[in-house]
Amino acid sequence: MIAFRRVLHAFYKKSKGLSLLTAELRRQQWLPPESIQEIQEQRLTHLLAYAADYCPYYQDLFFQVGLVRDGSVCLERFSDLPLLDKPLIREHFDRLKSTDLASRRWFFKTTGGSTGQPLKVIHDAERARWIEAVRDIHNEWCSIVFGDSKLRLWGSERDLFFGREPALVRLNRYLTNTTWLNAFRMTPERMREYVDIINSGRPRHIKGYAHCLFEFCRYVSDMGLNVHSPTSIISAAGTLTPLMRKEIETVFQTKVFDSYGSREIQAMAFECEAHQGLHVTAPLVYCEILRPDGTTAQPGELGEIVLTPFFNYAMPLVRYRIGDMGIWTGKPCSCGRSWPLLAEVSGRVTECFYRKDGGVVPPEYFIHLVGVVLNDGWIEKFQVIQNSHDLITVKLVCDDTVSNPAGEYANRLSELRDKIKLVMESDCSVDFAFVEEIPESVSGKYFYTQSLITRASA
Ligand SMILES: [Zn+2]
Repeated sequence: MIAFRRVLHAFYKKSKGLSLLTAELRRQQWLPPESIQEIQEQRLTHLLAYAADYCPYYQDLFFQVGLVRDGSVCLERFSDLPLLDKPLIREHFDRLKSTDLASRRWFFKTTGGSTGQPLKVIHDAERARWIEAVRDIHNEWCSIVFGDSKLRLWGSERDLFFGREPALVRLNRYLTNTTWLNAFRMTPERMREYVDIINSGRPRHIKGYAHCLFEFCRYVSDMGLNVHSPTSIISAAGTLTPLMRKEIETVFQTKVFDSYGSREIQAMAFECEAHQGLHVTAPLVYCEILRPDGTTAQPGELGEIVLTPFFNYAMPLVRYRIGDMGIWTGKPCSCGRSWPLLAEVSGRVTECFYRKDGGVVPPEYFIHLVGVVLNDGWIEKFQVIQNSHDLITVKLVCDDTVSNPAGEYANRLSELRDKIKLVMESDCSVDFAFVEEIPESVSGKYFYTQSLITRASA
């Protein structure tokens, strides 16, 4: 069966031209830093020249800062460009997209928002192919060979709402030898079942939301259980703190490979087998870390992460403030790869919600539910707070065009309430608060899911 899967996989990669992209990235990871810089400058120049020709938003901006003169891009002016953020993307959506969309392959992507601000962007199919290729590279770093048994501790609202996934999704999981455990259904009984599934299936690799892996490991520890040790664990979606890493590595007796991505700019950085930081996928994205005054932060200095993804011609995002903070290590990795290292990424502050029975609901459920499933643009910003086991408050900042959200979106709000109660206990109340702004916490961090109660011991 493994041989059949591998043949099918090779055919798929070849038919999409992915083998060539993967081979190019495989070679580029070992290039010296000067060569990587050269590749980045070429790709950035090409993207900016395209944006100047096809995106009205950038045409005006580039002219103002003198970035493009007589058809040539002056990269020296790049750092003079104003930053792009989510409110600007919403405001200038039509002017940011390429006027040449008809000749490109593209698709919409809606994100729950890495900082509680939902967003819709357009992805270019060309970039999507590169993302798929760089994921293959990261799999190689984690010693994952196609056909290996994998297990995902990942959210699935379809499973939650409809009881099962579509046939095509189940077929894909079968062909990729992947078992899914729904991270949105982590009651104590389910977590006990998950332990049995992992111990009987003995997957070679496990990937999951950082929060869910951590909470699952705490459950295993608290219950005094033993769990199969896989070859690698990939942590995704959410900040992996040193405490979380230690707990996961202790329980699974294996190393964690952290990763950094978002729905609007995927696959931004990955940890390699040397575990000395996260390598930015330099051939696919230009990453800046800036001080509050806009100057470049030095290695070791915390700053704001600003990204310019290459190949996204359908809707170029130039100097995009993703909403996270990061630190360059400034040191080469002992693995020998030249893609620069992020020491850490922080800023996305989310917390799990806890049920009275010891169950856990990850922040990703609320982010996806509020930001994607039930939002078609009317929610600009949100925050979900667990005040107690019996009360959850959803704060919403609505679009300017919405004057009476409780009336205009009564059905959506009712659906939201029902779907929150579906994962929490049924006697839990859900209140809505419509506010003008959601301020940062006293510490300067923005919690978009926050639990004010302590976890019940298992
Ligand atoms: Zn490395």
